[in-house]
Amino acid sequence: MEFLSSLEDVKQTIIENTEFIRSLENCCDDNFRENVQKLLNETMKDRLKIGEDIIALKAKHKRIDAALQNVLNEAETVEEANAKCAEILENEERKRTNIKQSAEYKEFKQRMTAVGGDSNATNVNDEEVTEVVEPGGKVVSMFDPWSKKLMLNPVRNTKCGHHYEKDSVDAMLQGNSGVRCPIVGCPIKSCISLKHLEPDIALREKIRAYKAQQELAESVSDEEEN
Ligand SMILES: [Zn+2]
Repeated sequence: MEFLSSLEDVKQTIIENTEFIRSLENCCDDNFRENVQKLLNETMKDRLKIGEDIIALKAKHKRIDAALQNVLNEAETVEEANAKCAEILENEERKRTNIKQSAEYKEFKQRMTAVGGDSNATNVNDEEVTEVVEPGGKVVSMFDPWSKKLMLNPVRNTKCGHHYEKDSVDAMLQGNSGVRCPIVGCPIKSCISLKHLEPDIALREKIRAYKAQQELAESVSDEEEN
Protein backbone atom coordinates (compact mmCIF):
# COMPACT_ATOMS: atom_id res chain seq x y z
CA MET A 1 0.00 0.00 0.00
CA GLU A 2 2.95 2.29 -0.58
CA PHE A 3 1.09 4.18 -3.29
CA LEU A 4 -1.78 4.94 -0.92
CA SER A 5 0.49 6.16 1.84
CA SER A 6 2.34 8.42 -0.62
CA LEU A 7 -0.97 9.97 -1.62
CA GLU A 8 -1.88 10.39 2.04
CA ASP A 9 1.48 12.11 2.63
CA VAL A 10 0.79 14.58 -0.14
CA LYS A 11 -2.62 15.34 1.31
CA GLN A 12 -1.15 15.89 4.78
CA THR A 13 1.50 18.17 3.31
CA ILE A 14 -1.18 20.36 1.73
CA ILE A 15 -3.01 20.58 5.05
CA GLU A 16 0.14 21.34 7.03
CA ASN A 17 1.31 23.92 4.52
CA THR A 18 -2.07 25.65 4.68
CA GLU A 19 -2.13 25.58 8.47
CA PHE A 20 1.41 26.94 8.58
CA ILE A 21 0.57 29.86 6.31
CA ARG A 22 -2.54 30.52 8.36
CA SER A 23 -0.51 30.51 11.58
CA LEU A 24 1.51 33.42 10.16
CA GLU A 25 -1.61 35.56 10.48
CA ASN A 26 -1.05 35.48 14.22
CA CYS A 27 2.41 36.81 14.63
CA CYS A 28 2.87 39.72 12.25
CA ASP A 29 1.70 43.21 11.42
CA ASP A 30 -1.59 44.09 9.71
CA ASN A 31 -0.09 44.53 6.28
CA PHE A 32 1.55 41.13 6.42
CA ARG A 33 -1.62 39.54 7.77
CA GLU A 34 -3.63 40.93 4.87
CA ASN A 35 -1.15 39.46 2.42
CA VAL A 36 -1.35 36.08 4.12
CA GLN A 37 -5.14 36.12 3.91
CA LYS A 38 -5.02 37.21 0.29
CA LEU A 39 -2.64 34.38 -0.55
CA LEU A 40 -4.89 31.84 1.14
CA ASN A 41 -8.03 33.21 -0.50
CA GLU A 42 -6.48 33.18 -3.94
CA THR A 43 -5.10 29.65 -3.65
CA MET A 44 -7.80 27.92 -1.60
CA LYS A 45 -9.80 26.69 -4.60
CA ASP A 46 -6.68 25.08 -6.10
CA ARG A 47 -5.70 23.58 -2.76
CA LEU A 48 -9.13 22.04 -2.35
CA LYS A 49 -9.12 20.75 -5.94
CA ILE A 50 -5.76 19.03 -5.48
CA GLY A 51 -7.02 17.44 -2.27
CA GLU A 52 -10.19 16.30 -4.02
CA ASP A 53 -8.16 14.69 -6.81
CA ILE A 54 -5.89 12.93 -4.33
CA ILE A 55 -8.81 11.59 -2.31
CA ALA A 56 -10.54 10.43 -5.51
CA LEU A 57 -7.35 8.69 -6.64
CA LYS A 58 -7.02 6.94 -3.28
CA ALA A 59 -10.61 5.71 -3.43
CA LYS A 60 -10.16 4.50 -7.00
CA HIS A 61 -6.92 2.71 -6.16
CA LYS A 62 -8.57 0.94 -3.22
CA ARG A 63 -11.52 -0.18 -5.35
CA ILE A 64 -9.36 -1.52 -8.18
CA ASP A 65 -7.00 -3.21 -5.77
CA ALA A 66 -9.84 -5.03 -4.00
CA ALA A 67 -11.49 -6.03 -7.29
CA LEU A 68 -8.25 -7.37 -8.78
CA GLN A 69 -7.53 -9.31 -5.61
CA ASN A 70 -10.93 -10.98 -6.01
CA VAL A 71 -10.14 -11.94 -9.59
CA LEU A 72 -6.83 -13.48 -8.58
CA ASN A 73 -8.58 -15.52 -5.91
CA GLU A 74 -11.47 -16.67 -8.07
CA ALA A 75 -10.34 -16.96 -11.68
CA GLU A 76 -9.47 -20.49 -12.74
CA THR A 77 -7.58 -19.74 -15.92
CA VAL A 78 -5.26 -16.98 -17.06
CA GLU A 79 -7.71 -16.08 -19.85
CA GLU A 80 -10.54 -15.73 -17.40
CA ALA A 81 -8.41 -13.54 -15.14
CA ASN A 82 -7.39 -11.33 -18.08
CA ALA A 83 -10.96 -10.87 -19.23
CA LYS A 84 -12.17 -10.02 -15.76
CA CYS A 85 -9.36 -7.53 -15.16
CA ALA A 86 -10.20 -5.76 -18.42
CA GLU A 87 -13.84 -5.64 -17.39
CA ILE A 88 -13.01 -4.14 -13.99
CA LEU A 89 -10.84 -1.42 -15.49
CA GLU A 90 -13.48 -0.61 -18.07
CA ASN A 91 -16.19 -0.35 -15.41
CA GLU A 92 -13.92 1.86 -13.36
CA GLU A 93 -13.56 4.29 -16.26
CA ARG A 94 -17.32 4.68 -16.45
CA LYS A 95 -17.82 5.08 -12.73
CA ARG A 96 -18.85 8.46 -11.42
CA THR A 97 -18.29 9.02 -7.74
CA ASN A 98 -19.05 12.08 -5.73
CA ILE A 99 -15.91 12.53 -3.70
CA LYS A 100 -17.16 15.83 -2.28
CA GLN A 101 -19.75 13.86 -0.32
CA SER A 102 -17.19 11.52 1.22
CA ALA A 103 -16.28 11.83 4.88
CA GLU A 104 -12.59 12.07 3.98
CA TYR A 105 -13.11 15.06 1.68
CA LYS A 106 -15.37 16.81 4.18
CA GLU A 107 -12.79 16.42 6.90
CA PHE A 108 -10.04 17.61 4.56
CA LYS A 109 -12.03 20.69 3.60
CA GLN A 110 -12.86 21.41 7.20
CA ARG A 111 -9.18 21.44 8.11
CA MET A 112 -8.25 23.53 5.10
CA THR A 113 -10.85 26.18 5.81
CA ALA A 114 -10.90 26.11 9.64
CA VAL A 115 -10.39 29.66 10.80
CA GLY A 116 -11.83 29.66 14.28
CA GLY A 117 -14.66 32.14 14.65
CA ASP A 118 -14.27 33.91 11.32
CA SER A 119 -15.64 32.22 8.22
CA ASN A 120 -15.11 35.25 5.99
CA ALA A 121 -11.38 34.76 5.73
CA THR A 122 -11.77 32.01 3.15
CA ASN A 123 -13.50 32.46 -0.11
CA VAL A 124 -15.19 29.09 -0.47
CA ASN A 125 -18.81 28.99 -1.49
CA ASP A 126 -19.72 25.30 -1.33
CA GLU A 127 -22.26 24.32 1.23
CA GLU A 128 -20.43 23.63 4.49
CA VAL A 129 -22.24 21.14 6.66
CA THR A 130 -19.58 20.55 9.29
CA GLU A 131 -20.14 23.96 10.78
CA VAL A 132 -23.07 25.23 12.76
CA VAL A 133 -24.16 28.80 12.23
CA GLU A 134 -25.52 30.24 15.44
CA PRO A 135 -27.94 33.16 15.68
CA GLY A 136 -25.92 36.27 14.94
CA GLY A 137 -23.94 34.55 12.19
CA LYS A 138 -21.17 33.10 14.36
CA VAL A 139 -19.74 29.95 12.78
CA VAL A 140 -18.96 27.05 15.10
CA SER A 141 -16.80 24.14 14.00
CA MET A 142 -17.87 20.60 14.85
CA PHE A 143 -14.24 19.47 15.02
CA ASP A 144 -11.92 19.41 17.99
CA PRO A 145 -8.99 21.79 17.36
CA TRP A 146 -6.39 19.38 18.78
CA SER A 147 -7.45 15.94 17.54
CA LYS A 148 -9.17 17.37 14.42
CA LYS A 149 -11.89 14.80 15.01
CA LEU A 150 -15.62 15.30 15.17
CA MET A 151 -16.42 16.20 18.79
CA LEU A 152 -18.55 13.86 20.90
CA ASN A 153 -18.76 15.94 24.07
CA PRO A 154 -18.08 19.54 23.08
CA VAL A 155 -17.37 22.06 25.82
CA ARG A 156 -17.50 25.80 25.27
CA ASN A 157 -14.90 28.22 26.56
CA THR A 158 -17.05 30.98 28.04
CA LYS A 159 -14.16 33.45 27.71
CA CYS A 160 -13.96 33.33 23.92
CA GLY A 161 -16.85 31.09 22.80
CA HIS A 162 -14.61 28.49 21.14
CA HIS A 163 -15.29 24.76 21.49
CA TYR A 164 -13.12 21.78 22.33
CA GLU A 165 -13.67 18.07 22.80
CA LYS A 166 -13.91 17.45 26.55
CA ASP A 167 -11.37 14.59 26.58
CA SER A 168 -8.91 16.64 24.50
CA VAL A 169 -8.99 19.73 26.65
CA ASP A 170 -8.89 17.65 29.86
CA ALA A 171 -5.78 15.90 28.56
CA MET A 172 -4.19 19.22 27.54
CA LEU A 173 -4.83 20.77 30.95
CA GLN A 174 -3.60 17.69 32.83
CA GLY A 175 -0.68 19.00 34.90
CA ASN A 176 -0.35 21.99 32.59
CA SER A 177 -1.89 25.32 33.49
CA GLY A 178 -0.42 27.35 30.63
CA VAL A 179 -2.61 26.25 27.72
CA ARG A 180 -4.08 28.94 25.49
CA CYS A 181 -7.08 28.56 23.21
CA PRO A 182 -5.67 26.85 20.08
CA ILE A 183 -8.12 28.43 17.63
CA VAL A 184 -6.17 30.60 15.20
CA GLY A 185 -7.08 34.24 15.64
CA CYS A 186 -8.62 33.76 19.10
CA PRO A 187 -8.52 37.17 20.79
CA ILE A 188 -8.27 35.73 24.33
CA LYS A 189 -4.64 35.53 25.36
CA SER A 190 -5.23 34.24 28.90
CA CYS A 191 -4.91 30.52 29.56
CA ILE A 192 -7.76 28.06 29.45
CA SER A 193 -9.24 27.37 32.87
CA LEU A 194 -11.56 24.49 33.76
CA LYS A 195 -13.95 26.89 35.43
CA HIS A 196 -14.55 28.61 32.09
CA LEU A 197 -15.55 25.40 30.30
CA GLU A 198 -19.19 24.41 30.06
CA PRO A 199 -20.77 21.51 28.14
CA ASP A 200 -22.55 22.64 24.98
CA ILE A 201 -25.52 20.30 24.78
CA ALA A 202 -27.09 22.00 21.77
CA LEU A 203 -23.91 21.61 19.72
CA ARG A 204 -23.54 18.00 20.89
CA GLU A 205 -27.03 17.22 19.58
CA LYS A 206 -26.30 18.92 16.26
CA ILE A 207 -23.13 16.86 15.86
CA ARG A 208 -25.06 13.67 16.67
CA ALA A 209 -27.68 14.52 14.09
CA TYR A 210 -24.94 15.29 11.56
CA LYS A 211 -23.20 11.97 12.28
CA ALA A 212 -26.43 10.00 11.93
CA GLN A 213 -27.17 11.71 8.63
CA GLN A 214 -23.61 11.07 7.48
CA GLU A 215 -23.80 7.36 8.29
CA LEU A 216 -27.10 7.10 6.48
CA ALA A 217 -25.69 8.84 3.40
CA GLU A 218 -22.68 6.52 3.41
CA SER A 219 -24.77 3.36 3.66
CA VAL A 220 -26.96 4.57 0.79
CA SER A 221 -23.98 5.31 -1.45
CA ASP A 222 -22.50 1.89 -0.62
CA GLU A 223 -25.71 0.27 -1.80
CA GLU A 224 -25.65 2.30 -4.99
CA GLU A 225 -22.13 1.13 -5.73
CA ASN A 226 -22.97 -2.55 -5.35
ZN1 LIG B 1 -10.71 30.91 21.79
